[in-house]
Amino acid sequence: MKITLIAGARPNFIKIAPIIKAIEKKQSEGEPISYRLVHTGQHYDKALSATFFEELNIPQPHINLEVKSGSQAEQTAAIMIAFEKELLTNPCDLVLVVGDVNSTMACAIVAKKLNTKVAHIEAGIRSGDLSMPEEINRIVTDSITDYFFTTSTWAGENLLKFGAPSSNIHFVGNVMIDTLLQNSGRISKPVFWDEYQLAEKNYILLTLHRPSNVDEEKSLIELLKGIDEMAGDKKIIFPIHPRTKAILGDQNLGLKNTYFVAPQGYLNFIYLIKNCLAVITDSGGISEETTVLGVPCFTMRTTTERPETISIGTNVLVGDSLQNLEKCFSEFLQNGIKNKGVPELWDGNASERILSILLLK
Ligand code: UDP
Repeated sequence: MKITLIAGARPNFIKIAPIIKAIEKKQSEGEPISYRLVHTGQHYDKALSATFFEELNIPQPHINLEVKSGSQAEQTAAIMIAFEKELLTNPCDLVLVVGDVNSTMACAIVAKKLNTKVAHIEAGIRSGDLSMPEEINRIVTDSITDYFFTTSTWAGENLLKFGAPSSNIHFVGNVMIDTLLQNSGRISKPVFWDEYQLAEKNYILLTLHRPSNVDEEKSLIELLKGIDEMAGDKKIIFPIHPRTKAILGDQNLGLKNTYFVAPQGYLNFIYLIKNCLAVITDSGGISEETTVLGVPCFTMRTTTERPETISIGTNVLVGDSLQNLEKCFSEFLQNGIKNKGVPELWDGNASERILSILLLK
């Protein structure tokens, strides 16, 4: 079986790393399987791309389509045009896409139109919020997917409602957690740890990059000022995503507790999660990692496509108001976290399950 693996953006790299390991393991066991890794070039900044290849020992891509930035339509179209040429030159039995970025949807459409089977890892999750580009990517991708690999039974139920045949839905667990567990012994302090006098639980880790939080400069600044105020005697470590940095520029916001740092490599970032008092974020993937690590997480969004991080894990859906964040955070300071648990099959073996299923196809 010849598989083409698609990766385009930071969370994709983290998800494909264990899949490649699982493919290589099957190859070493003599299974007839090979892969071709296509990097679409959606994320091209070293801090969002090359660093992850180095740290997670991901082999160099066989090709980089180098699509870079653009509007939603420009980027999606550029990926489709470049990937169509790639797939015509290097046909395969299966195109495997992960997550919910533009590369996921664009390559799934190209593959299906060239009559190539599509497998989607992290299929079936839904926020119900069509103002998020990711939600559109999820719905379109799942509408043409052949093999659905899911992180929860809820995701499988969503797919059934949507008409997917149950025989093609496979609840396998979470590949992002495979990476987390495979690398937990390798995490390391970031270079600024001593300089900023960080210590276990004396800081809050903050990430914000969703358009709803960062695209409006005035409200972003108000949010950052409010969080800085709320932190009291805690520091805030804010690895700033290029999208957020482009909005704020180099202006001095006069924050007293907040330290702006570059986007972190995976091993430093997980170290920061593991040792912080709490995470404030608008990332979906990070709320999965905090769930498994048992770290309190406050999600600055009104919806989530990962409800198990709330019902089982440590995640609190705060909404987009600073007032509600303050309320939820002060409740946490008084009462601690509401619950702590690991969702079913988030055990580090999802990639191996996926490979075993694919080899039967
Ligand atoms: N991440 C990282 N460095 C950072 C911020 C995030 O390594 O500075 C990792 C994080 O641990 C998680 C992934 O990037 O594995 C989440 O990516 P992102 O928030 O961009 O995507 P989302 O999950 O929101 O789709």
